[in-house]
Amino acid sequence: MNIILLGPPGAGKGTQAHKLVAEKGMVQLSTGDMLRAARSSGTSIGNQVAEIMDSGSLVTDEIVIGLIEEQLDAGVGSNGIIFDGFPRTLAQADALGALLKAKGKRLDAVIEMRIANDEELVQRVSGRFTCGNCGAVYHDQTKPTKVEGTCDQCGGTEFKRRPDDNAETMRTRLLAYYKDTSPLIGYYYAEGKLQTIDGLGEIDDVAARVSGALAAADA
Ligand code: AMP
Repeated sequence: MNIILLGPPGAGKGTQAHKLVAEKGMVQLSTGDMLRAARSSGTSIGNQVAEIMDSGSLVTDEIVIGLIEEQLDAGVGSNGIIFDGFPRTLAQADALGALLKAKGKRLDAVIEMRIANDEELVQRVSGRFTCGNCGAVYHDQTKPTKVEGTCDQCGGTEFKRRPDDNAETMRTRLLAYYKDTSPLIGYYYAEGKLQTIDGLGEIDDVAARVSGALAAADA
């Protein structure tokens, strides 16, 4: 299945995408991860987007559509693709539809992870950190590592915090979500592809809701 995880920053899209990758062998295409990788390797795209990402605004449609096109051209995702953080605008949604069609692929479902509480989202991203080795996601208050300074999953000892995971930048990121991305809820509802789930709660409970939505879309 090819699916989109749609939701505001901090809704848990990346966390649920990691679970689907591990459990179903799907491929996660996260434009945020691709842009961060471009920045750390110092490519020209990376240099172009650094300031915009740090401000919490959206980078241009052209750049992110190009990144997704490259992956689809490379033929990724024979076991299904999870689009995570893409599309984020109506123009990106149109472009994705055209790209999938050109590859003979279809979009099976769009899962909207709803959390209508901005304070909860700000809290979630403010304490977020990841293992620099395996990418496991932790939180200072709600999900610390079992042993301080050591990743539960791989034993790594280097951790990363995103510069845009702070309360101030979150205001801009949330505004971008409500203004530019939330219209996609109506767009995919009209296509009959939208499944909305409650994004609040324990990771495994949310994962069960994601599975339920996928099963409903597959029926
Ligand atoms: P994310 O990791 O999905 O939260 O994305 C981090 C940042 O990368 C966003 O705040 C944007 O600046 C940029 N970004 C990621 N994906 C997109 C996209 N599909 N469209 C525009 N900007 C994006």
